Amino acid sequence: MQCKYTNHLGHGCQFPIDRDEIVQWDGELWCPFHLPLECKKDWSGDEIAAFNRRVIGVVLRPPQSWTREVNLDGVVVPGDIRFDGEFGEVSFISAQFSGDVIFHHAQFSRDANFNDAQFSGNVFFPDAQFSRGADFSDAQFSRGANFADAQFSDFAVFDKARFRKHAFFSGVKFSGSAHFRNAQFSDIAYFRNAQFSRSAGFEDAQFSGATDFSTTANGDRNRTVQQIDFRRCHFHGNANFANREFQSSTDFSDTTFEGLATFHGCHLHQDTNFDGTVFKDTSSPGAARAYRTLRLTMEQHRARLEEGRFYALEQKALRHKSDIPRTYKLFSRLYEITSDYGRSALRPLACLATTTAAAALIYMHVLIPFLTVNDGGIPPGDVLVATLGKCVDFSTTQVVRPFSAWSRFGMDGLASLTTHHAPLVIVRVLALIQSLVSAALIGLFVLAVRWRFRRG
Ligand SMILES: [Zn+2]
Repeated sequence: MQCKYTNHLGHGCQFPIDRDEIVQWDGELWCPFHLPLECKKDWSGDEIAAFNRRVIGVVLRPPQSWTREVNLDGVVVPGDIRFDGEFGEVSFISAQFSGDVIFHHAQFSRDANFNDAQFSGNVFFPDAQFSRGADFSDAQFSRGANFADAQFSDFAVFDKARFRKHAFFSGVKFSGSAHFRNAQFSDIAYFRNAQFSRSAGFEDAQFSGATDFSTTANGDRNRTVQQIDFRRCHFHGNANFANREFQSSTDFSDTTFEGLATFHGCHLHQDTNFDGTVFKDTSSPGAARAYRTLRLTMEQHRARLEEGRFYALEQKALRHKSDIPRTYKLFSRLYEITSDYGRSALRPLACLATTTAAAALIYMHVLIPFLTVNDGGIPPGDVLVATLGKCVDFSTTQVVRPFSAWSRFGMDGLASLTTHHAPLVIVRVLALIQSLVSAALIGLFVLAVRWRFRRG
């Protein structure tokens, strides 16, 4: 008689269990360690406590046997369990914990493997020490996960881990590389004062709640961050990176910040990548200050494009402030529409083409009542076509030769088509406005081109 369990490699149950311990449940035979939780739900408190003591006994072994892995893969632990002490190599691959799990001051002297483990209760690893690699990839934390002040001396892998509630990594020391690729943080992700001594990768991670990577300890070792990768991340809440010192390449490319991203007091490395990064929040209090900080940092790096980008975000955020005058907001909006705050050379040209065409139609509209008419009382078709052509020509002239409508022969083209009652003075005033607008748009185009290619 053998336990039904097979692991991810297809291997059978690892526990040498006496025949009388095998339990039949739902038509299958199981050892007590792998017996599904549905069956263990009927256990009394004493039964659960006795079983969990047995699990703890398997983990806690004398140091001379630490080189041999303790294999608790697939073990199903009902109720709360607490591990205290120093362990050797331990593997909890695909283990299930239905209650709270506490590894208080635990010391993992060898590799610790919690790959694909499922924690239904709260998990506490405060002050735990992982002397070798720690693997929590694909682990699921249904309640809070608390790793505060834990120490990972070697690599720490949380790739594809799911944190359904808050994830506390405050004060954690990652002495080796830290891997959180594709991790999902459904609630608060708290990495305040966490120490990243080597590279850290958060590629494609999802942060649904507020995220805090900040530190308050200026000059402290906790402040520095080595190479860190946030490519294609999605921050749904506010993300705080305040006071961090990024000492190597930092990658936020194609990352989306739905909330506010704050970098106050940070030192950003020159190899900081914001290509394709989306900053959506321009309405939160403090948004203008947040983007101003990034603008000033990019200005120090003389990164013109990024500087312009954060300037535009800062201006948009300022428009949401109640203490900013309406006139300022109006001109800010016009500046955005006509050149995206100096970042677009195409927008002024598009606006110029639009205003030139619109002006031609306005001139046409003003002059139509004063065109010569036929027997039916309406202008002949050829006169209308000729007038439209003249209006387009007149409108274009106001762009290439500003204020020419006020020259001696500037109105001759239009006057030749209309009666002497035509309000040419109105057309002249409109032409003056068109010339001013066109000159402003040409100026914005020149400034945008200069901004983009200016050196120094
Ligand atoms: Zn088994």
